[in-house]
Amino acid sequence: MANDPARRAGAILEIDLAGIAANWRLLAQQVQSAQCAAVVKADAYGLGAAQVATALAGAGCRLFFVATLEEGLALRRVLREPLEIAVLNGLLPGCAEEFARQRLIPVLNDPGQITNWRRIAAPQRGVPAMLQLDTGMARLGLTMREFERLADELSQRGAIGWRGLISHLACADEPAHSLNEIQHTRFASARRRLPDMPASLAASSGIFLGRDFHFDLVRPGAALYGVNPQPGIANPMHQIVHLKARILQIREVDRGQTVGYGATHLMNSPGRLATVAVGYADGWLRSLSHRGLGRLGGKRVPLLGRVSMDLAVFDVSDVAPAFAQPGDFIDLLDECYGVDAAAADAGTIGYEILTAFGNRYHRVYRGTPGPISGQC
Ligand SMILES: *Cc1c(COP(=O)(O)O)cnc(C)c1O
Repeated sequence: MANDPARRAGAILEIDLAGIAANWRLLAQQVQSAQCAAVVKADAYGLGAAQVATALAGAGCRLFFVATLEEGLALRRVLREPLEIAVLNGLLPGCAEEFARQRLIPVLNDPGQITNWRRIAAPQRGVPAMLQLDTGMARLGLTMREFERLADELSQRGAIGWRGLISHLACADEPAHSLNEIQHTRFASARRRLPDMPASLAASSGIFLGRDFHFDLVRPGAALYGVNPQPGIANPMHQIVHLKARILQIREVDRGQTVGYGATHLMNSPGRLATVAVGYADGWLRSLSHRGLGRLGGKRVPLLGRVSMDLAVFDVSDVAPAFAQPGDFIDLLDECYGVDAAAADAGTIGYEILTAFGNRYHRVYRGTPGPISGQC
């Protein structure tokens, strides 16, 4: 068994594919007649786009969004037509043929991209593309002014088969923010000019702003992976990741001992420390220094001192020695301390905790869903 990678692993990342599928079904139910796509950009937020997309296709998802052409090409090797793959970052010069050949749907973000795609589409007619409109985020998409100028032309039947009119909300996780209504109003008015295009405004949090925000198609990413789409309210999503790091060494330390780089933690009493095989090179962020938590033997154990590249140190003084031996695991992410809790301690968002996961973890894909967040 010495060859068993799980036995050698310094840290194990368990990913619950059935939980992701259950989260997708929950969102699809929430939007009723609107289509529910899935955003699997950035390798499905660090969790493995091939595995995640396959599981979601099995659950009934038909449309997938990635960020880049490269991600789209990789996904096309896993998802065959008629499953659809759209590429959010748009059409870079010289890439149109590749899109067409692999049947990828570009999200066209400026007038030049529309012209380019028309040229590709012209001989065939009906070649699909989406159009992105910037309703208030100043990031990607046609400006409202560009849209006004082009709307009549876009409404005429042409070579492009419009698969969607999309826009993205800047503040969907803050329901009271005035920009939500402003973006909604702009989007709805654009949509009236092009009523034949399936319209899509909501990502994860936007789904929870209510039916007005659902239109024809929603594009959740983060909520599929357990991030709370409504910060401050109980999380309705399943936690998807379980991360555990192996104890490499246990040591007894005296009062006055300092811990880790910079000697930034001082032991005020004697204690027992566990050094585990996870560090910032694995995406266990350095900003979790002095703040992160693990769980061992049913107890919360605090992270002491700075997170190193490959190691972190936990105070296991309160844990019975029988539960804290080299080779044992400290849980870093579980149902009770999920990606949002770790993000709060790290001063970031759950999205960054997920996408930071490194490639040294031994990954295990599971098929049975865990409990809903909060039911610890
Ligand atoms: C990333 C992204 C999404 C998914 O957002 P979540 O908040 O993760 O649900 C949807 N649409 C666009 C344009 C995006 O960039």
